Amino acid sequence: MKIILLGPPGVGKGTQAQKICRDYNAVQISTGDMLRNEIKGGTELGKKADEIIKAGKLVSDDIILGMIENKLFVKDKPVNYILDGFPRTIPQALGLDEMYAKYGEKLDLVLLLEAPENLIIDRLAARRSCKVCNQVYHLVNMPPKVPGLCDKCGGELFQREDDKPETIKNRLKVYTEQTEPLASYYREKGLLRTVDSTDSPEDVHARIKKIL
Ligand code: AMP
Repeated sequence: MKIILLGPPGVGKGTQAQKICRDYNAVQISTGDMLRNEIKGGTELGKKADEIIKAGKLVSDDIILGMIENKLFVKDKPVNYILDGFPRTIPQALGLDEMYAKYGEKLDLVLLLEAPENLIIDRLAARRSCKVCNQVYHLVNMPPKVPGLCDKCGGELFQREDDKPETIKNRLKVYTEQTEPLASYYREKGLLRTVDSTDSPEDVHARIKKIL
């Protein structure tokens, strides 16, 4: 199972990726998490990415494609995975297609998660993430059992710098301009299915399961 989760920031890609992975024995590949780990580790890449992420812009296609090739085809080589937050531009999608051709593999499905913009803004503003394991919470809809602490690992929860209102606007603009065209790209290939993501995470997951 090789699936891309497409959709604007805050639509619930991370949450759904975790649920699919739990039910289908797949791994979540989040380029955002990979970049945040680089930042945490204080690497050269992390230093470059930090500024870009804080501004709500995109990290360069070359860097992202290099990270993905290493993860999917060279180092870990997972069989079942959910791509969350990648690809985000047409050049990234083309680069991924080239890799599938080069390594003799293929993509199974692209799920486009959709929700109205006001709901997305609310979800981003109320999102909290675990500093240790990246588990995601929503202060109202999916709160942790103990305020401020992760249910899974006890790690401290924090608000991502790029989930603050000034940056959210920019990220949504970048999504519309650079990522939304991917829906037509995959629709033309016959790989795209849309999923209404306005309801609770469980309802959305049930819809996804029907498709899978
Ligand atoms: P995410 O956790 O997917 O919302 O990603 C957080 C930030 O990391 C994005 O706003 C971008 O700055 C950067 N990023 C993550 N994935 C990509 C990607 N595929 N291409 C470019 N930048 C990315």
